[in-house]
Amino acid sequence: MKRFLALMLAVVLFLLPFSVSATEDTPVIRSGSGESPKIALTFDDGPHPRQTDRILDLLAEYNIHATFFVIGQNAVYYPEPLKRAVSLGHEIGNHTFRHEGISKMSAPMLEKELADTEKVILDLTGVKVSLFRPPEGACSEAVLAAARHAEYPVILWTVDTRDWDLASTDKIVSTVESKVRGGSIVLFHDYTARTAHTLDALKILIPKLLDEGYEFVTVSELLGGE
Ligand SMILES: [Zn+2]
Repeated sequence: MKRFLALMLAVVLFLLPFSVSATEDTPVIRSGSGESPKIALTFDDGPHPRQTDRILDLLAEYNIHATFFVIGQNAVYYPEPLKRAVSLGHEIGNHTFRHEGISKMSAPMLEKELADTEKVILDLTGVKVSLFRPPEGACSEAVLAAARHAEYPVILWTVDTRDWDLASTDKIVSTVESKVRGGSIVLFHDYTARTAHTLDALKILIPKLLDEGYEFVTVSELLGGE
């Protein structure tokens, strides 16, 4: 009996650190390690039939892959640009179903937002997403608990271009140029209610950053491939 108890104790002690890290830690990631010149362009709030498609056209010109954090509701409205993004080899992440009022939601409500979005993306594209970006980068306890429940790491960003705030083309370009480093995750939007300067800024930035030796990768490649 004593031996049995000792064995059980050993098993419990062995398992404890792993169960604690699995249940209480949600990775919150703002950049890659920066050991190589890899950077990840990310686009939130789509899909949108005009704005997403124009960005996909530009990325295809340079054979670049990016990560799109999709709103579930928008994927229901506009499935085609989402399907096109997947067919072109881009990575898709979860950006909740409705995007609104996240900070006031309980963990179970957020879990439903994530599960509904995951299902829409899976049904439309066959892709099971494994990354989550909370709207506005909100990292409340409920948000972290929902991410943990869905087994998603939380992906924030290194550089906020403020395209969502209708920053000018020049301002977006200078923000990225002054802040970007190897390992950076750069926040853009492929849907904004009013016309943003995202596309014009990317037309300037992509060739410049390629000339400077940067390599564009998806978030998963950035985190796993260094
Ligand atoms: Zn958003």
